[in-house]
Amino acid sequence: MSRGAPIERKTPDQLRAMRAAGLVVARVLTQLRDAARPGVTTADLDRLARDELARARASSSFLGYDGGYGLPPYPGVTCISVDDEVVHGIPGPRVLGEGDLVSVDFGACLDGWHGDAAVTFAVGECAAERAELCEATRQALWAGIAAMRDGGRIGDIGHAVESRLRAEPRRYGIVTEFTGHGIGRAMHMEPDVPNTGRQGRGAELTPGVTLAIEPMVTLGSARLAELDDEWTIVTRDGSVAAHWEHTVAITEHGLWVLTADDGGEAELTARGVRFGPLAD
Ligand code: MG
Repeated sequence: MSRGAPIERKTPDQLRAMRAAGLVVARVLTQLRDAARPGVTTADLDRLARDELARARASSSFLGYDGGYGLPPYPGVTCISVDDEVVHGIPGPRVLGEGDLVSVDFGACLDGWHGDAAVTFAVGECAAERAELCEATRQALWAGIAAMRDGGRIGDIGHAVESRLRAEPRRYGIVTEFTGHGIGRAMHMEPDVPNTGRQGRGAELTPGVTLAIEPMVTLGSARLAELDDEWTIVTRDGSVAAHWEHTVAITEHGLWVLTADDGGEAELTARGVRFGPLAD
């Protein structure tokens, strides 16, 4: 049975520091969502995020990132992926239009600690199948989060994400080429957190573990292609995709969703999962 290497654990003080970074991420994502209207460009949204980072005295987790293996340094502070773009869309002159399905992925680093989260939303009104894809992906994220517990395994998360999506009336594509990840002093750390998996497999989850969970889901096939910019990932069949992400900690008291405004209290409580924030 594969157990994987033990996952780095943070102290309570380190979790509090990561919560501060997570709150910056939560605030910026809310602002970008509010600002995304027809006629706004993805570069406009990126500029707004840069201003907010400066105001928060935080740095970007994404700007200049080379993927760890020599990709061209990432030029934005956000990844904005529209319609058939799945992840890593580079902000630029693209003008958002009514009905677009937009995923914004954003990472902030505060006092050396990273927070990473993504949301998907429609610009104005969108087709029903797009709204359903978005909500199914969001539900899958929370199912994955809710599967985290002291003594559990990494595989429990992917199993929960996949099971939630397979319970939908429509058969969605679940992206497996990209995964969630450990997070802390670096944005991407061990272990990988796949969006499919088997219960009871992989590294053990214990208090102090922090993970970024991020299902990526499509209306068609989950086969992917990369654009010539070497970053933007699109669906091969042109189908629309959604992406949701949160950075989550296991504490001695329960779960703490570090990049959610309310720490995850509402969604966790609704699922009968213990909400476990640390006091300041
Ligand atoms: Mg991530």
